[in-house]
Amino acid sequence: MLDRIKNELAISQTTLVAVSKTRPNADIMDMYQKGQRIFGENRVQELVQKYEDLPKDIAWHMIGHLQRNKVKFIAPFVDLIHSVESIRLLEEIDSQAKKNNRVINCLLQFKIAEEEAKFGMQVNDIKEFLQSDDYNTLQNTNIIGIMGMATFTQDKKQVRNEFRTLQSIFNELKEDIFHSKEDFKEISMGMSGDYKIAIEEGSTMVRIGSLLFS
Ligand SMILES: *Cc1c(COP(=O)(O)O)cnc(C)c1O
Repeated sequence: MLDRIKNELAISQTTLVAVSKTRPNADIMDMYQKGQRIFGENRVQELVQKYEDLPKDIAWHMIGHLQRNKVKFIAPFVDLIHSVESIRLLEEIDSQAKKNNRVINCLLQFKIAEEEAKFGMQVNDIKEFLQSDDYNTLQNTNIIGIMGMATFTQDKKQVRNEFRTLQSIFNELKEDIFHSKEDFKEISMGMSGDYKIAIEEGSTMVRIGSLLFS
């Protein structure tokens, strides 16, 4: 399954984040032996444990809801945080990154689904912040793109529209804020059930779990 998905993604040069949450280390190592190096987790404790147990050249991505008081546990090693859904969280990541003498790459998460439970920022709030002096003081975080999750539904048209909304938020931030920032280029969207639509709508990074490990 890994090879099939990788071939599909190669055409559009989309990055594969193998979502390994709840999977045992042996399953991750199988995929590691086949060359996969980027893995995504959604719980801090599990992420830290797997980081400690598994090869150090794995790039670990945090993709799930992140509480501010837990940032310190992943700050020493996390490669990319997809789920930055508040300014206060971004500030905490910056402060913990600084303590570790590193710069942590981040994606801003936006709410595109209709379900209430999905987290995310408001475009106008974050735009105002990104133009403020407070943002300029953040030296240890690097915003390289945005992330979103579509509604869990069979309605493909709705999913496509939600991905389009995310793409348009990306374009707006690129034009208005990050026009000269070359590494602001990632759109993390698409999971097992909707990654093909996501790629058609401009995803640069898909987060696939169940389909990959089944
Ligand atoms: C679990 C999870 C995924 C992967 O979901 P699958 O349907 O198993 O591919 C992607 N993104 C987030 C944020 C997740 O929590």
